[in-house]
Amino acid sequence: MKYYILFGPPGAGKGTHAVAIAEKYNFKHLSTGELLRNEIAAGTELGIKAKKLIEAGSLVPDEVVEGMIESAFESIKGVNGFLLDGFPRTLAQAEALDKMLARKGEAISAVISIMIPDEIVKVRIAHRATVEGRADDASDEVINNRIRTYHSQTEPLIDFYKKAGKYHEVAGHPGTVEENQARVLRMVDGIV
Ligand code: AMP
Repeated sequence: MKYYILFGPPGAGKGTHAVAIAEKYNFKHLSTGELLRNEIAAGTELGIKAKKLIEAGSLVPDEVVEGMIESAFESIKGVNGFLLDGFPRTLAQAEALDKMLARKGEAISAVISIMIPDEIVKVRIAHRATVEGRADDASDEVINNRIRTYHSQTEPLIDFYKKAGKYHEVAGHPGTVEENQARVLRMVDGIV
């Protein structure tokens, strides 16, 4: 089984491009943000706890997302690989993921990193707020907290995966969605 990580700041286009990559290569697209939003919509205990953190632009505890990813790995069959979107987001999650895969005799195949500058993060999220109506896209304070969280907790993963020789970066800006998607898919074609 292949395990790919789609990495990048909020608004980089991970969700949009993940759908195209997953379809092209028969990967299962696993978005921890989406799984958490499903828990919130279903009103589960986990969802109720996660809601406050998500709406403040903070991360949910590592164990919560690690558990969701591990159970997805166990239950989902019939795909060529997994495409992780929005996970891992901390060094602890990256290390937990390595251990989880090592127990199965597996490892991360590659990290595909989509990079956009902070100013573009704000423009993209403001646009997404008008389309998707996500609570955590609605206020500047929450968006700024997510950008700060990305730089302090998630960005260190770039070095972690560079050291592992697994890091591949592509620009997620400028261009139309189609142009960016074509650039991302060309890059993925060279890796997968
Ligand atoms: P996303 O849809 O990836 O932008 O995620 C939305 C929100 O869900 C994030 O701002 C976090 O609050 C939470 N979340 C998603 N993935 C993770 C993760 N790997 N670790 C912690 N929190 C997460």
